[in-house]
Amino acid sequence: MDPFSTDAILIRRTEYGDHDLIITYFTRRMGRLSVMAKNAKLSVKRFAGALDPFSVMKIHCTWPKRKNRLPILNNVDIKTAFARIRTNAVNTGYASYWLEMVNAWMEEGKQDHELYDLLLHVLDGLNGGKMDVQALSLLFQIRFMSISGFNPTLSCCGICETPIDNISQGRITFDFAEGQLICNTCGAGSIRHGITVSKGTLKQLFWINGSDIGRAERLKFSPEAIVEGQRLLEAFIPCHIGRDMKSLVVLRRLRH
Ligand SMILES: [Zn+2]
Repeated sequence: MDPFSTDAILIRRTEYGDHDLIITYFTRRMGRLSVMAKNAKLSVKRFAGALDPFSVMKIHCTWPKRKNRLPILNNVDIKTAFARIRTNAVNTGYASYWLEMVNAWMEEGKQDHELYDLLLHVLDGLNGGKMDVQALSLLFQIRFMSISGFNPTLSCCGICETPIDNISQGRITFDFAEGQLICNTCGAGSIRHGITVSKGTLKQLFWINGSDIGRAERLKFSPEAIVEGQRLLEAFIPCHIGRDMKSLVVLRRLRH
């Protein structure tokens, strides 16, 4: 029974039988990891405070003797509970959406330090309440896509490569299937699954993706860019992850 420890963010928990829980974490060392918390439903004290979503902790586990069994969670050290996120329904909605993105995208056991640090950063920002939550969500989504390799083309037409400043239209079509902008000359009219986005919004999204994260956080989005950015990214991400996201349905309801 080899022991191991790693920093981890709690993504979800599922009941298993009458006494146990299966807990899924995004870990720093091992990517997404599901572990068995034996008797967690009975012995509340043992995992006190450690079963809440968004909590960041160091988990201590052991590999079971038998193959194809989940690691056993022995105990945890809470690092930060991010408890203020859970006191606000909309903030909880955003954090749940981010976690669902990570859970849907990450492969079990594949580490991704960059994504781990990004998630930690936005959860901390959300908990601190210093940055507008909608802007924070745009920041997370656009950077999530770069890290995951989607990296949509937002600076030029994806076909003729004309930079958006040199395209004479005010709004440019984004093609969800190809993940790129298409100018009118290149046939934007024939795109079946796309939306039009203003140049101003595209520039702001492109900028927060490429800048240092500290500077990116200080960008003041125009109200139009918030709405358009949300519409673009919240449609594009499920499309590329390849499934509908329950948390997004809830988030949309909460926002209204
Ligand atoms: Zn073009």
